[in-house]
Amino acid sequence: MDSSSNGGAESAPLKLSPAHTRQWERVCQHARDIRVLDSIQWLLDWDQQCYMPSAGAEYRARQFTALAAYMHRLWTDRQFGDDLNELAAGPLADQPYSDAGATVRVLRRQVERMVRLPQTLVEALANARSTSQQIWVAARKANDFRAFAPSLAETFRLKRQQADALGWTASPYDPLFDEYEPDATAADAERVLADLQTQLVPLLDRIRGAPRRPDVSILRRHYPVAAQRRIGRRIASRIGFRLDAGRLDPAPHPFCMQVGPQDVRLTTRYDERFFSTSFFSTLHEAGHGLYEQGLRADQFGLAPGDYCSLGMHESQSRLWENLVGRSQPFWTFAFPWVQQAFPAALASVSQDQFYAAINDVQPSLIRVEADEATYNLHIVIRFRIERDLLEGSLAIDDLPSRWNDEYERVLGIRPPDDRQGVLQDIHWSVGIVGYFPTYALGNLYACQVYEHARTQVADMDAAIAEGRFGGLLNFLRRRIHHCGRVWSAGQLIERITGQALSSEPFMNHLRAKLLPIFAL
Ligand code: ZN
Repeated sequence: MDSSSNGGAESAPLKLSPAHTRQWERVCQHARDIRVLDSIQWLLDWDQQCYMPSAGAEYRARQFTALAAYMHRLWTDRQFGDDLNELAAGPLADQPYSDAGATVRVLRRQVERMVRLPQTLVEALANARSTSQQIWVAARKANDFRAFAPSLAETFRLKRQQADALGWTASPYDPLFDEYEPDATAADAERVLADLQTQLVPLLDRIRGAPRRPDVSILRRHYPVAAQRRIGRRIASRIGFRLDAGRLDPAPHPFCMQVGPQDVRLTTRYDERFFSTSFFSTLHEAGHGLYEQGLRADQFGLAPGDYCSLGMHESQSRLWENLVGRSQPFWTFAFPWVQQAFPAALASVSQDQFYAAINDVQPSLIRVEADEATYNLHIVIRFRIERDLLEGSLAIDDLPSRWNDEYERVLGIRPPDDRQGVLQDIHWSVGIVGYFPTYALGNLYACQVYEHARTQVADMDAAIAEGRFGGLLNFLRRRIHHCGRVWSAGQLIERITGQALSSEPFMNHLRAKLLPIFAL
């Protein structure tokens, strides 16, 4: 099945003159050197988030700054730029989607961005990323937005400078968003999110008045951390995440990082009084991890061995977390495991009760714990706020009240404090601005891909009900992971499903799943 495409790049053997061969080899070596430095940076970041003592923050910031400055010098190296330009204009001009053509295209794009950024700004951003993160951790713990506000203001000032240096016409949001989701704009994000908001609000209204509600108290029983840790590792490994080529550690904010082709770091957090926190964040991050482990190791540092976009990355995590991990077939397989791991909490609970509980829909304050139906509304709020901060129509001092007002307006609930409000996400503290819409795109890509996978992978639901995930994983490997960054996310979704990105599969999925649960 699905034999129409090899999934990967259309890579005929590369035929180059001796001079172009030398250029190509220089380009590859240089790009791989940059990737080595980049991966060291990720390792430092992982360490900072998992283990570094807080007093180490100052020197860590110096390490980040030095690395960023050195990488910037490599990106803006004249010979590198010249080689790329000559290869792009010469032998690779007519093959932009071959392995080599894509590599040159993607690298040139990044070089063009980097030469526009002054080194002093690159250093300031790297320094702010590390120091501000540390301030955010303390401010969040103390529920003290004022302690975080000055460094947040500095981050947005620098991000605006970055946007101005990169250049923009419609919104300074565009060049920042483009880094995470190549070729997408703030206007695209607004269109997608407004469309979702329009469709989600009536669905949520129906659910609010539903005659039946799941009993979610069963998820709030006592779930010992040791058993949560065991079951998380077991499930991650069962869906295909290789623990000999990755790790799973506790951290305040769940994430996935690729330190090297055979070294993918996942984190999760545990809450003894809430089953879902670690279980679903582990599945989510393992989905990211499967993507990283599925990238072509021989192409590490080059476009065919890189992820497509952050929206596509998020599609892989959401697919495993929600489309697999909150489905009936999955729990036919996994419920006996989980019931056995937590006998005190789940001995008298049926699979159907459990399935309904993990699919409850309830407006909530914390994005990473939001259900599938309300999740995108958290993104709507964040996107508009960060766009307004960047464009200058919202001041940092007004941020907490704007945040709380938006939650009240869009989700009908008001955060009682900033820890459960504006201080909850790590992103802005580390200078990640223009990223949030990739989460909503990920949800849409995931549903569209999954709907198609069902028609291509033989007896997929039955296999999942038996705990066999190989068919689905192989499909994702061939159609997404092995394609790397050869095509844009928009091109890739069309190549896989034959359709442009649409919210229809997502909304169909929600209605098909939720209406029966709520007896609607
Ligand atoms: Zn994610």
